[in-house]
Amino acid sequence: MQILLVEDDRPLATGLQTALRKQGYSVNHVETGDACLHVVGIEPPDIIILDLGLPDMDGLKVLQKIREKLATLPVLLLTARDSVDDKVAGLDSGADDYLAKPFEMTELLARLRVLERRLGTVKSTCISIGEVSLDTTSQAVFYREELQELSRKEYMLLKSLMENAGKVLTRSTLEARLYSWDEEVCSNALEVHIHHLRKKLGADFIKTVRGVGYKVNRL
Ligand code: CA
Repeated sequence: MQILLVEDDRPLATGLQTALRKQGYSVNHVETGDACLHVVGIEPPDIIILDLGLPDMDGLKVLQKIREKLATLPVLLLTARDSVDDKVAGLDSGADDYLAKPFEMTELLARLRVLERRLGTVKSTCISIGEVSLDTTSQAVFYREELQELSRKEYMLLKSLMENAGKVLTRSTLEARLYSWDEEVCSNALEVHIHHLRKKLGADFIKTVRGVGYKVNRL
C-alpha cells in the first residue's frame, strides 16, 4: 500500500513516515501542493494524506485538482483548524476522511485501515484461497488453519497478491507497493520476501511468472 504524505511540517512528516513505515506502508513525502499534483499526475499513490495548510496553495484547492484527475483516489485530510466549517468544506470538496491536529497515531492508523478496506477489490475482510486465509482486520494469516508469523512487508506482499488473485503483478508494481522512493532496495529483496512466504505457505501458493512477476491463482 503506497501512501503519499503531503505535509510541510517537517518534524510531523518525519514522525508520520517513521510510524507508517513501521506498519508496513510505503510512504513518499512532499511538502507542497505543486509537488503533490506533480506526483499524482505521473505515479498516483493508493492513498493521499493531505495537510490543508500548505505553503504554496490551499489544501482544498489541491484536493479539487486531485479530484479532477482521479475521482476515487482516497484522500485523508489533516488540518490544524478543527472547526465544523472546515470539516464540511473538506468533505464537500471530495475528501474521504478528515483528522484534526493533534491526533493520535492509533486514530490515523484506524482511519487508514477503513480507507484501505474501501480500496480493496475484495469487499470481505477475510480472503481465503486454497489453504491460505488472510484477515485484513486483524492482519492475521493462516496456512492450513495455523496462524503464521509474517513480517509487515511479507503481509503487504501477500495481501496484494491475494486481492489480485488470477492476475500477474509485475515486479515493479509490487516493489512500488512495498518500498518508498528513498528506501534502499536490494535487487533481490522481493525474491527474499517471496522465498520466506513460500516457506510459510507452501512452495506452490505463489507462482513465479518468469521475467514478469508473481501471481496467486484463483481456485
Ligand atoms: Ca501545514
